[in-house]
Amino acid sequence: MKILLTAALLAASAATGNVALSAEPAAASFTLPELPYATDALAPVIDSETMTIHHGRHHKTYVDNLNAKVTEFPALKGASIEQVMAKMSSFDTAVRNNGGGHYNHSLFWTVMTAPGKGGKPSEQLRTRIEQDFGSDEAFRKAFADAGTKQFGSGWAWLIVKPDGGLAITATANQDNPLMDVVKERGTPILAIDVWEHAYYLQYQNKRADYIKRWWEVVDWNAVSKRYADAAASKTASGS
Ligand code: MN
Repeated sequence: MKILLTAALLAASAATGNVALSAEPAAASFTLPELPYATDALAPVIDSETMTIHHGRHHKTYVDNLNAKVTEFPALKGASIEQVMAKMSSFDTAVRNNGGGHYNHSLFWTVMTAPGKGGKPSEQLRTRIEQDFGSDEAFRKAFADAGTKQFGSGWAWLIVKPDGGLAITATANQDNPLMDVVKERGTPILAIDVWEHAYYLQYQNKRADYIKRWWEVVDWNAVSKRYADAAASKTASGS
């Protein structure tokens, strides 16, 4: 009786498409991280509605679409998102766009904090910024320019290059400096999303205004930690 009922339920489920009948459920290799703060924590610089949609819909969609590629690309299963970035040339455009989207946003959330709570660059990072850009002011101007001038959707980055120096780069769409398909590679320690979905509700077409305000929510404590980690790993690997 129990077996018959189960068979009947399965048949009904199959008809409505509600249950996956394969022996193994689809693997969710990648997960949407929680925001490290409330959706209104970055206000008034970035409003709660923008954060809710950006994280809960845009970022979630990148994660869902990336997980949908695991069957086609078994190498994605169990790989870290950083490992996927490093081997991007072996995947397709959908993995590039959605995998990049997942990595980029996961980083972006963690380099921001409530306005005025982000502290300052560490002594080590400040010294390196002055060495590579001349001054903190010159660095900020160059970084803002990279974001403002990125045509269409994309990102601006502060990276640690393989030689240990800092550089500012910009990438289109959801590309990033970890990908083996981009020109300027390095370890990202700071990033700004300049897609319209990141600012349009509050700033409309005024991207430069968004970038100008955005400095108030940069978490320099987190960025300094990323710099220290990247610098230590360059030293450890002898490059
Ligand atoms: Mn975005």
